[in-house]
Amino acid sequence: MRILMVAAELAPLVKVGGLADVAGALSRELGRRGHQVRVVLPLYGHLDRQRLDIRPVAKLPPMAVRLGAGMHDIRWHLAGSGRGAVKIYLVEAELFARAGVYTDLLGRGFVDSLARAALHCQAALLLPRLLEWPVDVVHAHDAQAAPALVLRRELWAARPLPGPAAGVLTIHNLAHQEIHDPAQVALLGLPSTLAVYPGLLEFHGRLNLMKGGILAADRLNTVSPTYARETTGSPEFGRGLEQVLGSRGAHYLGILNGGEYETWDPRRDPHLIARYGAGDLAGKARCREALARELGLDAPAGRPVCGFVGRLVDQKGIDLLLPLLDRLAGDGFCFAVLGTGDPALEKAMAAAAGRNPRRVAFVGGFDEGLAHRIYAGSDLFLMPSLFEPCGLSQLYALRYGTPPVVRRTGGLADTVVDAPDEPGAGTDGGTGFVFAEPRSEALLGALRRAERAFAAPAVWAGLQDRGMACEFGWSRSAAAYEKMYAEAVAEAQGRLRHDP
Ligand code: ADP
Repeated sequence: MRILMVAAELAPLVKVGGLADVAGALSRELGRRGHQVRVVLPLYGHLDRQRLDIRPVAKLPPMAVRLGAGMHDIRWHLAGSGRGAVKIYLVEAELFARAGVYTDLLGRGFVDSLARAALHCQAALLLPRLLEWPVDVVHAHDAQAAPALVLRRELWAARPLPGPAAGVLTIHNLAHQEIHDPAQVALLGLPSTLAVYPGLLEFHGRLNLMKGGILAADRLNTVSPTYARETTGSPEFGRGLEQVLGSRGAHYLGILNGGEYETWDPRRDPHLIARYGAGDLAGKARCREALARELGLDAPAGRPVCGFVGRLVDQKGIDLLLPLLDRLAGDGFCFAVLGTGDPALEKAMAAAAGRNPRRVAFVGGFDEGLAHRIYAGSDLFLMPSLFEPCGLSQLYALRYGTPPVVRRTGGLADTVVDAPDEPGAGTDGGTGFVFAEPRSEALLGALRRAERAFAAPAVWAGLQDRGMACEFGWSRSAAAYEKMYAEAVAEAQGRLRHDP
């Protein structure tokens, strides 16, 4: 199949969170499976063109794209050789020329995010025409790319794409819906009726890109079966869109993400001081020592080092963890925390580190290498998330022999099996520690269970072995996407037959 991926992030080029990993890994896996994939990304100002081998495409001329009343000059670039099954196109434009994907370097959201999304999506839909490349599936990721599906549908008659161009939306996080003033619909080049009730993009009197994408897609999914159920089941998870999602019935699927084990493999991870694998964990002990040294932690042998890598935002349950840090540090637990996000949470974490200098280390920033060293060098990995569409970090932690401590929600519930806590148990089940209530005491209970298991080497080794043997690779997920694509294409072809 020919698949046009529209995403604001794509690892390893540009990454804010899991969306980048998923868009990148899925594209590569589809390429390996014989599909042609063209990805369209904005050329953000902070991307290092030389290092990432980003070069203008000679055969695609500079052009202008209309957004509302204004014209925007764009230039096409390609990353890498431009050969192979996956080609990554980047759109250069004034609107993307500054640093940042969704926010500036201080974490302030861009006020022109709608214009950026509109330009990205308009450009993406130009590509199949420019390349005369009949596209089977336009696959949009999250609200920023959702306009591609609305544009594809609404402008179909006037400017058809070559190929059936079925629309698929993947929701990585419903917390970000891109909600705007309805008057701004003109920026998308769409009629104003779409932004007033009962228009596709209207939601409670506002313009909502995610809602439009949900309804315009032929098929859609989110990134775990549990999150798919949660988001249709309650406003807490559906963020107001639960009924819109529910209205799509069986066309809304939960497809679990895979972990990209080529990059995330402790047997050949270039970021680690020592490599290790299932059955031979000597290297992991060296990684633990090195991590403690790097972060200035005094990590006693019998007490767990707990790692956290992730965005420091409410979603990740940082508020459950913060009140426990002093007490657990007093008990000899160590914490290696890497993340950026909400300035208040960063400040609170830095303060906890300040109070517990040899026990709590906090690095506020984005650091791929340190992330790998934390997965490897920690004994436990913390993900007390309030909600978690899929979560990738727990998959990496499992593979690195670092049992995760997670809340039973979303993809965490689908990927981590709670270890039984009876004396002598732990050898016949469980890959981590799962708690349910979104309260600090519940997290503490799970950490105490983990502490007991950590003190019993045979139990611990069993946990690690089972976790490292878990297979959440991409081939299973890619097959599920292929099936969804095939259904979407059949639907789009049916539409073409009825409405040529
Ligand atoms: P989300 O998509 O909500 O951010 P995921 O668990 O799906 O959460 O994916 C997060 C990814 O981003 C993981 O690969 C994690 O290692 C990485 N990551 C998050 N924050 C940082 C950081 N500060 N430095 C390095 N990697 C990070």
